Formats: sequence, structure tokens, C-alpha cells
Amino acid sequence: MLIDNHNRVINYLRLAVTDRCNLRCNYCMPAEGIDFAKRDNLFTMEELCRLSTIMVAQGIDKIRLTGGEPFVRKDLMVLFRHLASLKGLKDISVTTNATLIGPYIDELKSLGIKNINVSLDAINREAFERITRRNQYETVYENVIKLISEGFNVRINCIALEGQNIEEIIPLVELTKYYPLSVRFLEEMPFNGGSKTFNKIKWDYKAIFNHIETHFNDIEKLTSEKTSTSINYKIKGHKGTFGLIPSFSRTFCGTCNRLRISATGDVITCLYGKPRMNIREILRSENSEEKVQEHILAAIGNRSKTGFEEQQKYDGVFNNSMTSIGG
Ligand code: SAM
Ligand code: SF4
Repeated sequence: MLIDNHNRVINYLRLAVTDRCNLRCNYCMPAEGIDFAKRDNLFTMEELCRLSTIMVAQGIDKIRLTGGEPFVRKDLMVLFRHLASLKGLKDISVTTNATLIGPYIDELKSLGIKNINVSLDAINREAFERITRRNQYETVYENVIKLISEGFNVRINCIALEGQNIEEIIPLVELTKYYPLSVRFLEEMPFNGGSKTFNKIKWDYKAIFNHIETHFNDIEKLTSEKTSTSINYKIKGHKGTFGLIPSFSRTFCGTCNRLRISATGDVITCLYGKPRMNIREILRSENSEEKVQEHILAAIGNRSKTGFEEQQKYDGVFNNSMTSIGG
């Protein structure tokens, strides 16, 4: 079992499988001039499978694949198949923009993958295209509907972006009336490759809630898991739920159970910091299992208590893009 220096069990790995993406969401990446990692510096599929095995042996029981866009890796299903075969791994999930998942939905279902997070910041086509800088609206919409009708637990993640999609919040909450999904609103974080910096936000979780509350009655607060990053609600009579993720306000750090590993092997113990180390070459060396586990233990033994504490330790944290961190 992995226990950090603040006595928190770390059982959840967010594994980025690539830093590439077929969209260019303006809160995540600049439109161009992105410094993608060299191919040799990205884990191969065999390495991702081996790394997952090592991490599960060390006590990880939940893995979320993320990126960049995970499905730009054409061999991604190899990893899903491998994860599905790992005893001890209780929860396999993916965060995706839902542009490329279509052909894989049937196999994901047969592998028993249930939890799919879809990033969708607008249900209005124009707003969607403006934010993502691409025209994949129809494909995303079709895939989301297919995922819901196939019985996946679909969670839509929408970032509240001042001046860009605030008018989308209510229509997105309306979806929960008709579909059994969860729509979660995230606070924007200044991780967009350094193209935008800010120290405060207008649309924090309280402002988002107040906005929703003026449109709907009978909002019931739900009980959430202790390690959950979202505060969840249900509107009476609706099939689905909605949630708020204070990603900028960081009210959830105290119970953090996560570890992030980037597609190039950076070990990230907090979103608001710099990588603690890189394990790519260690994984590529002899007797890698033991060495990787030692390094992971060292990283976990040196975590900050909160994102605020971590942020103070480093300059230039916000030059990062989420596409390398994985969200
Ligand atoms: N491409 C996939 C997707 O968009 O779902 C996975 C990777 S994406 C980097 C993971 C998550 O990070 C997404 O939910 C996205 O909305 C979130 N994200 C990216 N940039 C962000 C930012 N500046 N502030 C808050 N969340 C951000
Ligand atoms: Fe790509 Fe996801 Fe970043 Fe959008 S949020 S640019 S889909 S990695």
C-alpha cells in the first residue's frame, strides 16, 4: 500500500498516455507553437502496460487514462485489455474529448470499462468550435449519446470560462433532466501552456452554484466519497446529477489520493507543482520493477499537504499545459 508523508493512502493513478491532441481547447493549449515531446521520450505501449502492472502491485487500485487525447494513440486498446486483466485493479476509467472513441465503444463495454469522463464545454455548436478550435461537434455529440445509451457512467466535465461559455451552464444542467449522466463544472486553472495567466477567477464553484440555483428549485446535496474532488447535487425529478469541482479554489487537497504520471514519465504528486522525478529511463533499465517502486515511494514520501503549499515551492508552475499533465 502507498501511504504519503501526510498519512494519506495513494491508490489512484492518473496515467497520461500521450501529450498529443486532435483538439486545441483554448484553456488547455495555445493555438500553435506547442512543444510536444519527442516520440522516443513517450512511453511505448509495452512500457505503459508494464508500468501499470508495477503500480498495481504497489497498491494502486484505480487507474484513469488521460493525456493529451488518449484515443489519438491507435494502440490504446492494448492498454485497456491489459488493465482489464490486472487483478487488484478495481476501477479503470478514461478522460476523453470523445472525438475518436466511437469505434472502440463496443470493446470498452465488453472489457467492463464503465466510467468515461467526457470534456465538453458547450452544447452550442458555435461555442464548442470557438473553444476547441476544431469542428468535431457532431462526432462528439453522437459519441456521448451512444456512450449513455450503452450504459456507461458518463460524466461531462465543463470548465466555466468567463466570457466564453457561461450561458452553456444551464443547458448542460438541463441535460440531467433527460439523461442519467453527471455534469460537473470545473473552475478554470491557469494551465494553458503559459498563454494566459491569472491569480483569481470570477467563476469559482460558489458563483457557479449560485448561478444554477437561480434557475432550478429543489436542489439536493448528495453525499460524496471522502476522496471525491466534486461536490455533487441532484435536482428533484432529474435522472442525472451535477457537480462542482473547485480545481482552482482547491478545497479538496486534504483528502487527495492521487498520483500522476505523464506520458514521458514525469512523476507528479500535485497538479500545482513541478514533477518530482522522471521514471522513463528507470523503467527502461534492468531490474526496473524494484527501482521504479523505490522512486515512487520516495516521491510519495515527499508530498505537499495542499496545492497552495506546493505552488509556493516552485516558480513557473503555470507555464505548463494540461496536455502534458493530464488534468
Ligand atoms: N483530452 C482529454 C480531455 O479533454 O478530456 C484528456 C486530457 S485533458 C488535459 C484532461 C482534463 O483537463 C479535461 O477535463 C480538461 O477539461 C481539463 N483541463 C485542461 N486545461 C484545463 C484548465 N486550464 N483548467 C481546468 N481544467 C483543465
Ligand atoms: Fe485536447 Fe483535452 Fe486539452 Fe482539449 S482539454 S486540448 S481535448 S487535451
